[in-house]
Amino acid sequence: MKLDVLTLFPEFFSGLSNWSIVGRAIETGVLNVSYIDIRDFSENKHRKVDDYPFGGGPGMVMTPGPIYGAINRVKSEKSKIIYLSPQGKRLNQKMVNTLSKEEHIVLLCGHYEGIDNRIIENYVDHEISIGDYVLTGGEIPAMVLIDAMARLLPGVLSSSESYVDDSHYNGLLEYPQYTRPREFRGKKVPDILLSGDHQKIKDWRHYQSLRITSLKRPDLLKNCSLNEEDKRLLSRIER
Ligand code: SAM
Repeated sequence: MKLDVLTLFPEFFSGLSNWSIVGRAIETGVLNVSYIDIRDFSENKHRKVDDYPFGGGPGMVMTPGPIYGAINRVKSEKSKIIYLSPQGKRLNQKMVNTLSKEEHIVLLCGHYEGIDNRIIENYVDHEISIGDYVLTGGEIPAMVLIDAMARLLPGVLSSSESYVDDSHYNGLLEYPQYTRPREFRGKKVPDILLSGDHQKIKDWRHYQSLRITSLKRPDLLKNCSLNEEDKRLLSRIER
């Protein structure tokens, strides 16, 4: 996957490429990330990229010219242009799974009061939000998306770290995890995890996944494909 991040603050991302998972994805060559400074496309001698909003009101708006220039520099026929925005569709695992299969993604990070709407209307394929709150800029949302996609790229996680059991991947939350010591301040690890019976452990984990999802995020169960056995287990859990 090729990723181009359009930002006013490329230095914000300096640590990202060295972090374990994103770093590993870059190192193995499955991910290629470039950070493009939108200011480099300003035609203003002071490299200005913002201006007052027409109609008045507080703050500044990013002007369309430099953003258009940056998009034009990186865009190809295969590109998906994503604007990180609090007005976008709220990011979830399903969207991450789909996006992780794209060949070229351009992430556009806004700042100030946001960007001139003509860019959104004419050049952006998707607006994506990382939640219903407002951040100062699109850089942290871009990092969230990059991290979430990088771990799904082929060969990035070893099979022992596989993502398929992780929360949200198949619509459920993950089962509870335990590690050493077997007993911690009088609290023991569930016996079944020490039994060595792989089938029983698998069944227990699936049951726990259903139980935890029904307890913590019952809303997720509505969009989850459950078989008859799952439905039977759930009605037992709910009782
Ligand atoms: N005035 C805008 C509004 O009310 O919709 C908010 C602008 S925000 C202060 C500046 C930039 O931060 C946005 O252009 C966007 O790129 C980014 N941003 C803020 N919150 C975000 C969120 N929840 N998800 C994704 N990006 C966000």
